[in-house]
Amino acid sequence: MEAQKKSYRNTIQKELISNALNELNHPTADEIYEHIRKLYPNISRGTVYRNLSLMIEMGQADKIPVSGYADRFDCNTKRHYHSRCISCGKVMDIECIEPLPSEFFKNDNLNKDFDIQGYEITLVGLCSDCREKGYSKNKKPQGSSAEKEVRK
Ligand SMILES: [Zn+2]
Ligand SMILES: [Zn+2]
Repeated sequence: MEAQKKSYRNTIQKELISNALNELNHPTADEIYEHIRKLYPNISRGTVYRNLSLMIEMGQADKIPVSGYADRFDCNTKRHYHSRCISCGKVMDIECIEPLPSEFFKNDNLNKDFDIQGYEITLVGLCSDCREKGYSKNKKPQGSSAEKEVRK
């Protein structure tokens, strides 16, 4: 009886996570938790994280490691790639030719030296929102020394 109740509860929790993954665009674990908490204020962060890990183990969701940022999660478990905005961190789906044409790699003996089993591709750049806001690589963060000098 108890086990049955527990597995029923797990099913609901997985469904909530799955909905969050569908509604949010490649969210972080935190964003998933906050999204579910709006509807179910009593749910704990641990419960969400634990069920999210289970879903990844079972192939129901994908984890996208983002270097220098929090991992993001994906409901699209088919093979695909991503772009990442260097200003706001937004991640979007990228489709590629599969497999990549051999001309893509320029090393002479690549296949001899290395048994390619796959590749990870992340395009980095600016999303359309950030481009419109005029993000620039050289823009100083607020409160920087340059700004303080102007106020003197
Ligand atoms: Zn952006
Ligand atoms: Zn994706």
